[in-house]
Amino acid sequence: ENTIVEVSAACVEGGVVRIGGKEVVMMAGPCTVESEKQLMTTAEAVRKQGAVILRGGAFKPSTSPYGFRGLGEEGLKLLAKARDEFGMAIITEVMTPTDVAMVSEYADILQIGTRNMQNYMLLDEVGRSNRPAVLKRGMSSTFEEWLLAAEYILSQGNRNVILCERGIRTFEKTTRNTMDISAFPLTKILSHLPIISDPSQGTGRRDLVGPMSLASVAAGADALLIEVHPNPDEALKDGAQSLTIEQFSTLMPQLHAVANAV
Ligand code: PEP
Repeated sequence: ENTIVEVSAACVEGGVVRIGGKEVVMMAGPCTVESEKQLMTTAEAVRKQGAVILRGGAFKPSTSPYGFRGLGEEGLKLLAKARDEFGMAIITEVMTPTDVAMVSEYADILQIGTRNMQNYMLLDEVGRSNRPAVLKRGMSSTFEEWLLAAEYILSQGNRNVILCERGIRTFEKTTRNTMDISAFPLTKILSHLPIISDPSQGTGRRDLVGPMSLASVAAGADALLIEVHPNPDEALKDGAQSLTIEQFSTLMPQLHAVANAV
């Protein structure tokens, strides 16, 4: 039986969002929580366009130690404030087993990033928590390794696991990663878990986020995870792959059209 992950969100009728059900769910927000103003402006805008889950990193796995590594717990508090204000559920990354309990106090969905897909201590701890988890595909992981990583969480008792295709490493450098669109139909064949798409990390390029979002939905993605920033050129992190609010607003009706057609 296919797994449907239920997440509470006051902004939707009935108060529950279902990931893996009939509707394609929109998760959107800034790559990283930078300030209250940046987060609230983005949250209000994406909610207005139909997003029901707000993304935002507080603990960032920065490739360079000199890059912005997030506001930590302060960022989580801002996300909780945005949830109170706009009724969206919150998804944010947790990087270490010792932070799982604390991050769970603020987050509705725990995100495990590509770099931690095979951090088995983290997977075990998330498996023992009662929060739904998004498990990103490791950037150099095979499908089998990814599904076995999901089993770590499931086998500890947490049945609410969502897979996320976010691109893999190939020889191609024009895009940050290479999105594996076959991951969506393949997941439907090989697994009972829902699968979502992160075209922002998947491409690293704002101009490709729209087309890859549409392709993901056409190929069967259950939800999208999209980075949006009020002023991407000034973003402290990953501005190149963040949509402007206007671009996000243009994309939403296109996504509805594709979702209705498949
Ligand atoms: C993110 O979504 O903020 C992120 C860092 O993603 P990934 O783990 O896919 O690189």
